[in-house]
Amino acid sequence: MGVNIEKVFGDNVFDDSVMKVRLPKSDYEKVKVLMSEGGEITEQLADVVAQAMKEWALEKGATHYTHVFQPYVISVGAGKHDSFASVPDDGEIENTFTGKDLLMGEPDASSFPSGGLRKTSSARGYTAWDITSPVYVKEDTLCIPTAFCSYTGESLDTKTPLLKAMHAVSKYGVRLMRLFGHEDCNRIFSYVGPEQEYFLVDKNKYMKRADLRFTGRTLFGAMPPKGQEMDDQYFGSIKTRVKKYMNEVDEQLWKLGITCKTEHNEVAPAQHEIAPIFAISNVALDNNLLIMDILKKTADKHGLVCLLHEKPFEGVNGSGKHNNWSLTSDTGINLFKPGKKPEDNKLFQLVLACTMAAVDRHAVLLRLAASNTGNDHRLGANEAPPAIISMYLGDQVEDVVNQIIEKGEATSSLSSGELDFGIKKLPNLQKDPTDRNRTSPFAFTGNRFEFRMVASSNSIGDVNTVLNAMMAEQFEIAYEELKDAEDLDKAVTEYITKLMREHQRIIFNGDGYSNEWTVEAKKRGLPNCRSIVDAIPALTYDSTIEMYEKFGILSKQELEARKEIQLEQYANIRNIEALTMIDMANKLYIPAIINYTKQLADTVVSVKSVGVDASVQTDILKDTTEKLVKAKKAAVNLKAVVEEASKKAESQDIAIAYKDDVMAAMAELRKPIDELEKSLPKEMWPVPTYGDMIFDS
Ligand code: ADP
Ligand code: MG
Repeated sequence: MGVNIEKVFGDNVFDDSVMKVRLPKSDYEKVKVLMSEGGEITEQLADVVAQAMKEWALEKGATHYTHVFQPYVISVGAGKHDSFASVPDDGEIENTFTGKDLLMGEPDASSFPSGGLRKTSSARGYTAWDITSPVYVKEDTLCIPTAFCSYTGESLDTKTPLLKAMHAVSKYGVRLMRLFGHEDCNRIFSYVGPEQEYFLVDKNKYMKRADLRFTGRTLFGAMPPKGQEMDDQYFGSIKTRVKKYMNEVDEQLWKLGITCKTEHNEVAPAQHEIAPIFAISNVALDNNLLIMDILKKTADKHGLVCLLHEKPFEGVNGSGKHNNWSLTSDTGINLFKPGKKPEDNKLFQLVLACTMAAVDRHAVLLRLAASNTGNDHRLGANEAPPAIISMYLGDQVEDVVNQIIEKGEATSSLSSGELDFGIKKLPNLQKDPTDRNRTSPFAFTGNRFEFRMVASSNSIGDVNTVLNAMMAEQFEIAYEELKDAEDLDKAVTEYITKLMREHQRIIFNGDGYSNEWTVEAKKRGLPNCRSIVDAIPALTYDSTIEMYEKFGILSKQELEARKEIQLEQYANIRNIEALTMIDMANKLYIPAIINYTKQLADTVVSVKSVGVDASVQTDILKDTTEKLVKAKKAAVNLKAVVEEASKKAESQDIAIAYKDDVMAAMAELRKPIDELEKSLPKEMWPVPTYGDMIFDS
C-alpha cells in the first residue's frame, strides 16, 4: 500500500513546526531570524537549541549525531559519527549534546583531498553548522548539515564557497533592485531544482562486473541487438521491482521533508530520473546529496544497484543533472521572469544581458564546474549537451534580444499564442512561449535557466557557486555603471544594448549536436573543451581569481589547490580504470577465449578425422585467435603506457598523458574483446553482458 505523504512529510526533520513547540518562544523567534537572515548564534542560544534537538532526536530513536559535509570532488557526503552517550565523573551514562557540539565539529580531515593546502601535521578540519539548512534524523543519527574548512580557514568542501557566492549575489542584486526603485528589497535568493538521472541494475549481475564495482562504469561490453533506438523505454511502464524501489525512496525523502515530483524512465533503458521541488541553493545541495545517498542505499534493499556514474554503458545515453536555477527577491520578484511584455521589462532585460555577459566571460569555468572524469564520455558525445557553452533563449526572448541588438531597444514581442486542439471540448492551452531545445547546455525555460551539462554524480555546489558569483560580478559592474546616471532609463537601455551586442556570440538556438555548430562556434571564438583536462586550468584564469577574490569566495591559493586536486583526481580515476581493464582481460576474458579456441581446435580435429569439411570451424578459430593475439598485445601495451604516464613530473602532464595515451590504449584493448563478445557462445562469456544488465533489471 502506498504511504500518505501528508502523514509522513517532514517527520524526520527538525523543522519549523518542531521548533515552535519545543523551543521557548523568544528563542524560537531568534532562531527564525537567524535561519532566514543568517548571522552569529550565541553559545547560550545554541545550548537551548541543542537540548531541544537532542530530546527530539532521542524520541526518534537516534543514538548518534554527526556533522554532514561534502569534501571537494568527492561526490558522496561524509560525516564523523559521535554517540550522544557520555560517561561523566559520577559514572552514570548520560546523553549529552551541547551547543558547542551543534555548532562545531572536528573530523580528521587528513584523508580528504586538499591539493597541498594542509600538511598532514595540521590535518585538522572543522565543520560549522549551516543554520539555514534543516537538521534531520537518518539511520538513527541526528544529522547536522555543515560547512567544512581547514584549521587555517580554507574551504575544503563545495558548500562554503556556495554560501559565500549566494551572499555576494544577494548583496549586489539588492543594489541593482534598489536602483530600479525596489526600495523594499533586502535579499536575493538563488533557487535550484536539480533533476537527477541514474541507472538501476541487478545486484547479482553487478557483483560479477569488476569494472562497475571498481569504477562505476563498464570498461568492456558490446551493444545488444536491441538498443535504445527502440525508444519504448521512455515513459514506459516502470517495472514492478523498480516501482517498489521508487515508492520506498519517495517515502524516505518525504520523511526528510523533500518533495519529489517525477520519476519517469529516462531515454536509456534502465535509466530513471528524480526531481525534487526547487529550494534555496544550499538546501538544494544538501537535499541532492541526501537523494543520491538514499537512491544508493535503498537500491541495495531491493537487490538493485543504483549507478550515479555519468556513462555506465557505452553507446547508451548517459546520466546528468539538470540544474534549474533562478534568482528571486525577498519581495517575490523572479529576476528571470520576462512578464507579459518583455519588451518593456527593463529589469528582466538587464538581468538577461548580465547573464549573457557572465556566461560568455566564464564559459570554461562553468564547463569545468559541471564536469568530472565520467562526464567526459557524455559531453559532446551526441546525446547530452555539447561541450561548447552557449545559451538558448527560445523564440520570444531571442526576438527581444535581436531587436535590442539591431535597433537599441525592443518595441514588441511575439505573443506566445494558443495551442488549438481543434476539438470543441478541450480547452485551448496557453502555449509555452519558450519551446524546448534539448540540445542546448544552458537553456532559458520561462522563468529560470536550466544548465544541463552537470555531471550526474557531481555535487551541485561548484556549479551554483559559479552561477551566483558570476551574476554578483555582473550586477556589481552594472550597478557601478548606472548608479550616477542622470537619465537612468536611457542609461539602462544603452547599457543593455552594449552588453547584448558585446556578448551576442553566446546565443545559439540551433541544433547543438550538429557538426555545423562546432564549426560555427569556432568562428565565434567560443571555447570548446573536449575534456575536463582542458577546462581545469580555468580555475586559475585571471578572470576566475579576480572574481572569487573580490567576493571572498575562494583565494588564489585555494583555487590553485583545487586545480591540483582536479588533475590528480582525473589521473587517479583513469589509472584505476586502466588497471581494472588489464585485470579483467588477463583473468576473465583471455582465459575464456583460450577455452573457446581449445574447444574449436578439438572440434576441427575430430570433424576432419571423419573426413568432413571443417572450414567454418577453422575460420572461426583463425579469427578468434587473431583477436586473442590483439587483445593480449593491447593488455601488455596498456600496462606500459600507464607506467609511462605516471612517470611524468607535473600533474598537468600526467593528466594529459592519461587523457590521450592511456585512453587510446584502453580503447585498443576494448575493441577485440567487445568483438569477441559478439561471437563467443553466451555460456562461455565470463561476465553479464549489456543485454543482461540493461534489459533484465
Ligand atoms: P522538466 O520539464 O525540465 O522535467 P520540471 O517541471 O520537472 O521540468 O522541473 C524541473 C525542475 O525545475 C524541478 O526541480 C522544479 O522544481 C525546478 N524549478 C521550477 N521552477 C523553478 C525556479 N523558478 N527556479 C529554480 N528551479 C525551478
Ligand atoms: Mg529538465
